[in-house]
Amino acid sequence: MKRKDVDINKISPMMKQYLEIKEKYEDTIIFFRLGDFYEMFFEDAELASHELELTLTGKNCGLEERVPMCGIPYHAYKGYLDKLIEKGYKVAIAEQLTDPKDTKGMVERDVIQVVTRGTRLDDTLNSKDYNYIGNIYDFEYAYGISLIDVSTGYSYVIILDHKKDLAINEIVSHNLGEVIVNSKIDREIVDFLRSNYNILVTIRDNICDEDKYNYLTEDIKDVRVKTTISHLLSYLLDTKKGDLSHLQKVELIEHNNNLLFDVHTKKNLELTETIRNHDRMYSLLWLLDKTKTAMGGRLLKYTIENPLTNRNELNRRYDIIEKLLTEFILKEELREELDKVYDLERLVSRISYGNSNARDMIQLKNSLGALPNIKRILEELKYDKTIETLDDLYLLLDKSINLDAPITLHDGGLIKDGYNSELDELKDIRKNSKNFILNIEKEEKERTGIKTLKVGFNKVFGYYIEVSKGSVSEVKEEYGWIRKQTLTTGERYITPSLKEKEDIILGAEEKIINLEYNLFTEIREKAKEYVSRIQIIAKTLAEVDMLLAFTIASEENGFTRPELTLEHVINIKEGRHPVVEKVNKKEYVTNDIIMGKDTDILLITGPNMAGKSTYMRQLAITVIMAQIGCFVPCKECKIPIFDRIFTRIGASDDLVSGESTFMVEMKEANMAISNATKNSLILFDELGRGTATFDGMALAEAILEYIHDKIKAKTLFSTHYHELTALAKDLKRLKNVHVSAIEEEGKITFLHKVKNGAVDKSYGIHVASLAKLPDDLIKRAKEILNVYESKDKKEKYVQTTLFSEVEPTKEEEKIDEIRSRVENINPLEMTPIEALNFLYELKNDLNKKQ
Ligand code: ADP
Repeated sequence: MKRKDVDINKISPMMKQYLEIKEKYEDTIIFFRLGDFYEMFFEDAELASHELELTLTGKNCGLEERVPMCGIPYHAYKGYLDKLIEKGYKVAIAEQLTDPKDTKGMVERDVIQVVTRGTRLDDTLNSKDYNYIGNIYDFEYAYGISLIDVSTGYSYVIILDHKKDLAINEIVSHNLGEVIVNSKIDREIVDFLRSNYNILVTIRDNICDEDKYNYLTEDIKDVRVKTTISHLLSYLLDTKKGDLSHLQKVELIEHNNNLLFDVHTKKNLELTETIRNHDRMYSLLWLLDKTKTAMGGRLLKYTIENPLTNRNELNRRYDIIEKLLTEFILKEELREELDKVYDLERLVSRISYGNSNARDMIQLKNSLGALPNIKRILEELKYDKTIETLDDLYLLLDKSINLDAPITLHDGGLIKDGYNSELDELKDIRKNSKNFILNIEKEEKERTGIKTLKVGFNKVFGYYIEVSKGSVSEVKEEYGWIRKQTLTTGERYITPSLKEKEDIILGAEEKIINLEYNLFTEIREKAKEYVSRIQIIAKTLAEVDMLLAFTIASEENGFTRPELTLEHVINIKEGRHPVVEKVNKKEYVTNDIIMGKDTDILLITGPNMAGKSTYMRQLAITVIMAQIGCFVPCKECKIPIFDRIFTRIGASDDLVSGESTFMVEMKEANMAISNATKNSLILFDELGRGTATFDGMALAEAILEYIHDKIKAKTLFSTHYHELTALAKDLKRLKNVHVSAIEEEGKITFLHKVKNGAVDKSYGIHVASLAKLPDDLIKRAKEILNVYESKDKKEKYVQTTLFSEVEPTKEEEKIDEIRSRVENINPLEMTPIEALNFLYELKNDLNKKQ
């Protein structure tokens, strides 16, 4: 039965309540709280039962047919919720707002929170990853994009030119799972994000106009920033339904402060995850992540994705690493102290949002406890930033919160003795009465002589005296006991004095629980006043932790301080690819990358598996490491600051978008050619191999000429077209290098050593002969190669323009003829014998050709 078919006048009141709520949340699955379950109904139930493999049942609601229903226990809902969110659904949690025990008639229910990918509950998040939700606000002449991580309070805005590619790249490269867009946006963007990147996109135009959030953009003049962030904020306030005043002031991202690269480059260079398994392990992030705190881990990831271009800041970071490298003891001490610091950013978000528990407070206290030492160490290191220690908040938490407090806030056990006198008195009363009850057992045993007598407690009868079956006959009326329960093993009795004490205990208990809860929320409110100060501390600690991680990684892997030069030169001695080096069992062969003022392009030749692409990646990784402020994997490094990196490396996974590999190659090449500046780095790995040889070669050459003459960016270009190496004669700033390999005892060994000059041209044929291809064939290949290498051929190739026809060979002519014969027959009009004859003739002709 469908929701739309329901006659609202006939349906039960509870189902009516459900339908009213559901109407407000059409695109959202409603978890409707009914006692100990969250129930789903109608289409939601059908969908959830399918996605979560739950049994679909039905509920009677006054209609002839039962309403489809499926449910999950409320105490185990998180796993189910996560699964649905992961699959891209939104879930609204409709809670019971009044206690069923105290309510006559219908329990009130309403949505208390909508959970989506971007607004997920914190404890399901990876601690070392951020969780941004984003928006695109189309101003029709520009795009405003903002990013907010509710769990940490970070928020960013960027204003982009009105180019779709830019907007898409910004969203995709921040790994967003959910994006809100205004309705002016081109639907192509929405479709692209949904289908290619499985991003949850919501179209809505609401803008938050609460003055309370003006502070977010008070330092920024551009009004578009306020509009953009208010658009996203409005959605968050509608879904989170809570206070978001922990959000930190918006940071305006300006692209010229960052080394830019697109999402393909990020993937190809395996900066934060590997291409094959999408795994953090064996990525650059994995190699450098020696951070001790969640904040440091998140900052590291953000920094790797957004390296800097600010020379002073980068040199500052190198200076700090250099200092830390010499301060062995302080460095170790700092690491130990940072290890005690919990995720301050997410803790204060929870405090501010009002859903923190006593354990969060203990974590906050322990973190604050490490601050005085950290402050001292930073001073001793002459670190250029310091931190507050918030001693008063530490003292408050230290004297108030019980160290073994439970997670729940309604079971007591939260507050330490000595913090509040009223609470202490109540606890005394409870304790004395409990002692009194314990004494009763002793006294009654003595008074009655019944040795097996015991005092016990259960929720139904409260305190009782239990006597075993064998002794029941000894119980006398004069004791004044009242029989309450008969068991197979004995009898249970209550007495007036037991009940009197019980009332005192239970009364005290209830008062204690209430008082503890109130005291706890008071302390939490107090802590809330410190939120922005804690956020500032957290930022500094994150930076310290990240730089410490760089130091440890540099020490462990033998990295060197780079020199950032103002000259247009690259001078890397004995460079390595840090991850390949770490992961490979074989020894890594170091390579120099030298590109003086007079060299803009290195044309790299060499057989497959020689190490061409590793060499290129090595340069890009070195540049990125230098521009995040880390030391670099080589003996010596002098490089300029780059503004952008463009890559065309490896297979592209854009095949989902229906474009051929070659088209994607050309688009990426175009991206580089139209956006690169002299200060960019371009890496092209075997560009042009996706099309026919001559086409590919011609394009590769034209692109090289273009870069050489017009862009002048430092470029590494690997190719297996030996013919291109001749370009060095005409293009003065292009140099040939090759990756060598040797033959030893009939086996090819790749030396992975990059040397000047072009590769030995007959190398491929040599490898083929080692692979034991027939002698005749090898001989023929050598003849053909000679033709290719002849001056004649070379001239012909150089003279060929992009669009000229290449004369077909005899073999091509023959194949063309056979193709047209096949095209001209119609198999449906042929008899089997005719078809067989035709096939026979074709085969004969083909054999003749050979
Ligand atoms: P190509 O691009 O020439 O086909 P790759 O760069 O993919 O070759 O390298 C092939 C393999 O050789 C890599 O997976 C790596 O394990 C190894 N390799 C490459 N360069 C080196 C090096 N300098 N030292 C050690 N091993 C290397």
